[in-house]
Amino acid sequence: MSSSASSLWSRYRSIPIVYRIGVAFVLGSLAGLIGGEPLTALQPIGDLFVRLLKMIIVPIVFFTLLMGARRLTPSTLGRIGGVTVLCYIVTTAIAIVIGLAVGNLVDPGVGLDVVSTDVQTKQAPNIGEVLLGIVPTNPLGAMAEGDILPVIFFTLVFGIALALLQEEFDADTAVHRGVETIFDVVEAGAEAMFKIVWGVMEFGIIGVFALMAATFGTAGVDAIVPYAKLIGALALAVGIHIGLTYLLVIQRGILGESPIAFLRGAREAMVTALSIRSSSGTLPVTMSNADENFGIDEEIYSFSLPLGATINMDGTAMYQGVAAIFAANLVGQALTLGEQFTVVVTALLASIGTAGVPGSGLIMLTLVLTQLGLPLEVVGMVAGVDPLLDRLRTMNNVTGDLAVTTLVAHVYNGIDRTASVWSGSSEPAGTPQDD
Ligand code: ASP
Repeated sequence: MSSSASSLWSRYRSIPIVYRIGVAFVLGSLAGLIGGEPLTALQPIGDLFVRLLKMIIVPIVFFTLLMGARRLTPSTLGRIGGVTVLCYIVTTAIAIVIGLAVGNLVDPGVGLDVVSTDVQTKQAPNIGEVLLGIVPTNPLGAMAEGDILPVIFFTLVFGIALALLQEEFDADTAVHRGVETIFDVVEAGAEAMFKIVWGVMEFGIIGVFALMAATFGTAGVDAIVPYAKLIGALALAVGIHIGLTYLLVIQRGILGESPIAFLRGAREAMVTALSIRSSSGTLPVTMSNADENFGIDEEIYSFSLPLGATINMDGTAMYQGVAAIFAANLVGQALTLGEQFTVVVTALLASIGTAGVPGSGLIMLTLVLTQLGLPLEVVGMVAGVDPLLDRLRTMNNVTGDLAVTTLVAHVYNGIDRTASVWSGSSEPAGTPQDD
């Protein structure tokens, strides 16, 4: 490379990756709006980015969780697990109430009519089956399928068993040495995965451009305008939940930290979630943010984040509230308080049982609308703008996973306060230019 090209390259790399992705996000959206349909041809480049991220999910969960498990006793795990699940449930319930309140305030469907469309309803997963499914009958099969809950279960059990063996056997025995070797390999494996995350994020700059160009190339402004109120209502609800619940109450109120610090630490995960519409797909970035930016102990984030990506979906659940009011508006009906309570319970349960993949919020919507006896055609009507709504929901979902993780880590003294975001150093660690 000539010296001017290499200095240009190093200047480019010195810009924090999240800004470069942000610019790609905006430019891609504009390109899609201007270029229209032909830009949907870029979709495979975006898909490649998503595949690269998905490639790391199972190994990063396995390696980091195994590292974390060696410091966990079953009783600590029980306590951390209980607090984590409780926080996830409480924040999701708050999200749905905010969604309903904003929906009631904005009345996003007023002025529109129900357009008849074909809707494929899918069955929402049964909570009993979800709970039973946590225990894999074949751990390698669960890994191969990318089924996160059974992978978490097996890895935790395996990690705790290894840690117990290490205590039980003397240091000069083969078993003790073997366990140490496994933990060493796993530690190197986890570091290697974090390295890969940043490599993938470099490619993500092109990937995000392609994803946004393809989204807006398909949707176009004309398709979006009738639903502007719905999109605006969800954006407002997401803004309120992030601002009040995560930043003001959790960060400022409970952790006593600056909300800006939290946003600085979470921004790569937030932008990735906005771009790829999947909390599971964003998991490698979320975990890397928890580890490198927030300095959270492995035994906490390696458990709470994969769990959160699977069961905690504040944005998705909140959307059910906004969309239920939207649907009621369309048929000129007001939801009673009792019906709104039904939305809270249904959306809360469905969000636990629905996977963090693109579009799962729409599946949940069929469930909520059926429960309320509202027209299912609404699902077909909003499907066209769902790629936009899904971005907001997913960004909220991932931010919620990280906010609750910082909270649980705070409760269990598992945060290194000298880590970059808390100590206020200029850039969070872990961005490639710091390597
Ligand atoms: N795409 C969301 C997620 O992965 C789920 C949804 O709301 O559709 O978290």
